[in-house]
Amino acid sequence: MEAYTEIREAVARLCAGFPGPYWRALDREMTYPTEFVTALTESGYLSVLIPEEYGGSGLPLSAAAAILEEVQRAGCNGGACHAQMYTMGTLLRHGSDAQKAAYLPAIAEGRLRLQAFGVTEPSSGTDTGSLKTTARRDGDHYVVNGQKIWTSRAEHSDLMLLLARTTPRSEGMKRTDGLSVLLVDMREAIGNGLTIRPIRTMMNHATTEVFFDNLRVPADNLIGEEGRGFRYILSGMNAERILIAAECVGDAKWFIDKAKRYAADRSVFGRPIGANQGVQFPIAKAYANMRAAELMVREALSLYESGTNPGAEANMAKMLAADASFEAANACIQTHGGFGFAEEYDIERKFRETRLYQVAPISTNLILAYLSEHVLGLPRSY
Ligand SMILES: Cc1cc2nc3c(=O)[nH]c(=O)nc-3n(C[C@H](O)[C@H](O)[C@H](O)COP(=O)(O)OP(=O)(O)OC[C@H]3O[C@@H](n4cnc5c(N)ncnc54)[C@H](O)[C@@H]3O)c2cc1C
Repeated sequence: MEAYTEIREAVARLCAGFPGPYWRALDREMTYPTEFVTALTESGYLSVLIPEEYGGSGLPLSAAAAILEEVQRAGCNGGACHAQMYTMGTLLRHGSDAQKAAYLPAIAEGRLRLQAFGVTEPSSGTDTGSLKTTARRDGDHYVVNGQKIWTSRAEHSDLMLLLARTTPRSEGMKRTDGLSVLLVDMREAIGNGLTIRPIRTMMNHATTEVFFDNLRVPADNLIGEEGRGFRYILSGMNAERILIAAECVGDAKWFIDKAKRYAADRSVFGRPIGANQGVQFPIAKAYANMRAAELMVREALSLYESGTNPGAEANMAKMLAADASFEAANACIQTHGGFGFAEEYDIERKFRETRLYQVAPISTNLILAYLSEHVLGLPRSY
């Protein structure tokens, strides 16, 4: 698999312009890193997956993974903009030529942002098949009613990829049938049936809840066929899991590097703390687990790029990488003793940020349940 060394170096150079103090100031005020996202957009990194004919670089998912890994490795936070990469798969694989021509060039140029992904609802949670938001066909429009929660970046996006029920659930129907994907242009929708309310969280993530009240969406904005949306979203979700796993690997590398340097520099009892096995072993273990997770990310990427939908590998990559990043975060904070808790070291901020990936975009329990049922053939537990 291509290493993307030049892209990685260029992303690292860009990220060097956004050091700890930049992120700390945003974190304090819970504000969106607009300058950072603009810099990534203008350098073309957020459009690497868009085919060249539409103005992007036409690179595979592994290029996006390399970019996001480097962003995290540099101490920045790709959570502000990673959705443009992972929602892209649904649009590229299932959107019509007319939709691609209408949106992709403007996204590639940075005039249009595709950063919002509306799946989770307050009452359905992980049980996507039971979501309640409806899209009812009315002439050449769909009329959308309902609510989404945790729709991140909605205030900083022009477009939202929305999953809604177009056919009511009925006896004998598969629970995930009857769902459809709509591309919602939020520029026209806000104030005309769409309301966005920010949710403050333990880290700076620009997440929101979104309300639909008779929002009219042109039927032309339906992605693929009506009722088959869950399948389309799944390929996007696998891309999402793989990319977030790459981000977690980047986080783990940042924590390990920070811990290693501090363990070598900090002297207590007249010698570096890193000379103690009790300090060095947790860092070494975190390193080994990060490398194992990195291999699974590569395996998932190569399967995804061969055109399949590697559910098991995408899920395992995400779980192993999220565990590796959180283990590294713990080792890093412990290595730093009291200083690990001081804002100016950035560790507590990154610690809070990487903790999210034990829960989102899919929680560890649900990954284990997936593996138990679909890989090991055990009875479905839910
Ligand atoms: C900051 C943030 C950003 C997010 N961004 C987005 C976004 O942009 N778009 C979007 O659509 N969603 C987003 N999400 C939602 C995220 O994907 C969900 O929070 C996640 O999938 C878990 O769903 P839930 O919160 O409803 O938890 P629930 O489904 O209510 O689960 C709660 C707990 O119970 C456990 N659990 C549930 N069922 C079972 C079972 N059968 N067996 C064992 N354990 C079980 C889960 O593992 C979890 O730990 C975001 C969430 C957060 C916190």
